[in-house]
Amino acid sequence: MPELPEVETVVRLLNRQLAGATIDHVEWKVPSLLKGNIHTFSSLFHHQTITSVTRRAKYILIHFHHGYTLVSHLRMEGKYREIVDNQSTPSPYAHVLFYLKDGRRIDYQDVRKFGTFEFIKSENLHQLKSLAQLGPEPFDINDIHAFHAQLSKSSRSIKSILLDQTFISGLGNIYVDETLFAAFIHPGTQGKELSLIHVESLIKESQRILKEAIESGGSRIRSYSSGQPMDGQFTLKINVYQKHGTPCPRCHHRLARTVIAGRGTHFCPRCQHDSYIPFVVGITGSMASGKSTFLQRALSEGYPVLSADDVVHSLYQKPSIQRQLKHLIHPNVIQNKHVNGSFLLEWLLQASSHVKKLEAWLHPRVINSIVNWLKKQNTIAFVEIPLLFQSHADAFIDFIVAIDRPFEERKKTIQSRHPNRRWEPYVLLDEKNMWKQYRPFIDRIIENEGSLEAFHQRIHDLLQSAIAASRVE
Ligand SMILES: [Zn+2]
Repeated sequence: MPELPEVETVVRLLNRQLAGATIDHVEWKVPSLLKGNIHTFSSLFHHQTITSVTRRAKYILIHFHHGYTLVSHLRMEGKYREIVDNQSTPSPYAHVLFYLKDGRRIDYQDVRKFGTFEFIKSENLHQLKSLAQLGPEPFDINDIHAFHAQLSKSSRSIKSILLDQTFISGLGNIYVDETLFAAFIHPGTQGKELSLIHVESLIKESQRILKEAIESGGSRIRSYSSGQPMDGQFTLKINVYQKHGTPCPRCHHRLARTVIAGRGTHFCPRCQHDSYIPFVVGITGSMASGKSTFLQRALSEGYPVLSADDVVHSLYQKPSIQRQLKHLIHPNVIQNKHVNGSFLLEWLLQASSHVKKLEAWLHPRVINSIVNWLKKQNTIAFVEIPLLFQSHADAFIDFIVAIDRPFEERKKTIQSRHPNRRWEPYVLLDEKNMWKQYRPFIDRIIENEGSLEAFHQRIHDLLQSAIAASRVE
């Protein structure tokens, strides 16, 4: 969908090609694109001269010398194309043909036919419903205090507020994500939580980003030649939009994707820290690597800790979860109001699709519980998550620690944990934890080798550096 800078580029091109030109007649191949009567349109606009083409938000305003304006919106993929010879055959997607007296033709093309046209007396433009309900563009906001006061009444997320064209117009999904990243604001922050400094930065960054995009469209205008589509496409310098899974260009944390206001939302969990949760240290690593030792140590030093495995166990106690598990896996997975661990293990080992199925169902529920717990903590919290990256928990973690321990030693621990049961399946399942492939996103790796005492010392040192990191941010 063309965003404001693209529409601005189209407007500048149209203005260059159309200002001063006179319409001979307009052919509506798809009359439904026009909101209004075609005969009225013809009697008003045929043989009239265009004075200029301007823009209001993403609406293109084609002004005529006799005091009428044609309002065009490209919606999903509408575009204009200048045809030098008006006798040439139009494309099957050219739905509106503007024949000019000078022999040229401007075709409006729209594969999906979502675009709209309406017309009105220029002096009544502000009364046109689609324009009347538009909020100001970022460029029009001069009174930051008034805008801040307006935001402070809203408990909606800033992402959905910025997408709301009646509140502020001209910012689409890409520009909202890029602006929030530039302003260091988490997209889920409620309007009323934003400080004046936040709001100032928000307006300043949105103006800067839109301006840069418009300027980059300017090069397209300079290189434009007749016959090309006037679609205003150009490459924008993107930092976060659809870049989830890659390193943040500022801090190298893994960029995350979530859904807010029904739209894909891309952000850096560290630079755009969620103000509702504390600084979160995430601990990951394979089975029996020493994650619990780390957690116990943090607890004994007085910090709040949570283990994803404990969250799973308490979820498994809930009758509603047990009902869903029966449905998802097999009725026998629940016996005497408990999850039958060995049945579950056998089922998981039957097919790798089973593991995927359980994880897809379980991860969001575990993440939800963890986030709810985090919201009750104050400045720092430690969370142990074996599949930290695969469950997308890194979307709310600031500092990632992995614990590495040689396989043979881990195997011994796993064996000792299951003396009377087969332990091989656990080793097999453990192989699916491939945390090492996320190495670039891990802040610290602790080796669990040698004496327990030495391991404890390394944990203690790491706790100190994690706390120091939390104070810097
Ligand atoms: Zn970052």
